[in-house]
Amino acid sequence: MTIELRGHHLLCLLGFRGMGYSEAYAANMALVYNRLRDKPDTAVTIVAGPDQLCACFPADDEPHCENASVARLDERALAKLGLRVGLTLPWSAVIERVRGSVEPEDINVLCHTCEWRSYGVCEAGVRTVKRGEALPPLP
Ligand code: SF4
Repeated sequence: MTIELRGHHLLCLLGFRGMGYSEAYAANMALVYNRLRDKPDTAVTIVAGPDQLCACFPADDEPHCENASVARLDERALAKLGLRVGLTLPWSAVIERVRGSVEPEDINVLCHTCEWRSYGVCEAGVRTVKRGEALPPLP
């Protein structure tokens, strides 16, 4: 099983604590999060544009998954991680990239346009990875 993720979602997953754009969106993200948490050897393919998480973005919300500003989030995240679209690698290797390349404060720069940034959960997720700890169970 390979999970397709766009660049910035590699970072969003670190801070996922059950919140999302809708119940269905959060439930789908929880499935992916738990899979990666339980089986870090799961293969992840980096895609351009909408991915498996975007697939559950609510139809009645203002669409943004194809916006240029969101593509820039992907580009900044991938550049920071030294990864690129088209690569397939185990989730554990993504975690290693985060540990070696990202500081918690980088979220403020990489994701300065993101509405979720102010919750601080993504910074906390990077901090967890930097400490060498596993992603925590969902609340
Ligand atoms: S701040 Fe936004 S884009 Fe950045 S990792 Fe968190 S949820 Fe994702």
